[in-house]
Amino acid sequence: MTDDGSVLVRRQADAAPDWESLRAVASVCTACALHETRTQVVFAGGDAPADVMFVGEAPGLNEDRQGVPFVGVSGQLLSRLLAEVGIDREQVVIANIIKCRPPANRDPLPVEVATCKPWLRRQVHLADPAVICTLGNFATRWALGPNVSISRVRGQRFEVSGRTVVPAFHPAAALRSGPDGPQMRALREDMETLAEVVAEVRASTPATALPRTVSPSSHAPPLGADTERPMEGG
Ligand code: URA
Repeated sequence: MTDDGSVLVRRQADAAPDWESLRAVASVCTACALHETRTQVVFAGGDAPADVMFVGEAPGLNEDRQGVPFVGVSGQLLSRLLAEVGIDREQVVIANIIKCRPPANRDPLPVEVATCKPWLRRQVHLADPAVICTLGNFATRWALGPNVSISRVRGQRFEVSGRTVVPAFHPAAALRSGPDGPQMRALREDMETLAEVVAEVRASTPATALPRTVSPSSHAPPLGADTERPMEGG
């Protein structure tokens, strides 16, 4: 089931020609057991293309009910911090490592991550963001490799497959640390770093430029590749 599930997802994801087709096919996914307990698939917030993409971990209760990522308390914090640093939530894409809520918000299982990964890979391909902010350990390991720890890499920037990855603490971790806790302060700093990176990218991209394109035939694995890339910067 594991292999069959991820092979099927990869085939379906790679065949989706655009964002809405991908949303449609992902929305009826039954490739892993999470489809039995979810209310709905949480595909993404925002539309492709987008120069900035956030990747979180997994939908929670509110996301599962509404079908939109980061709409619960973590999402409200994320929205507030983005507003503070001048990033418009409406102009970015927000997705998760897995698209269905794990029961009782437990951590995603390796089999669920592996099965779901092709949806995210295709989302990155179609959204083609120049900057990806990974929120928490799951997303950061997907982007930078399995041995990375968020507390070691947060707030830095990494060049991976032509995109800039900025890892940040997960808003839920910041909330657990309290309003003046170390992780809340760190997340604020991370969002400031992100805003600097985004400003640099936007300054170097002419307003009239077409979205950056990866050739249509290319499915070159950027992030979350089966062959994980080593980190290239810091
Ligand atoms: N936490 C996440 O990682 N993703 C969501 O969509 C909501 C909370």
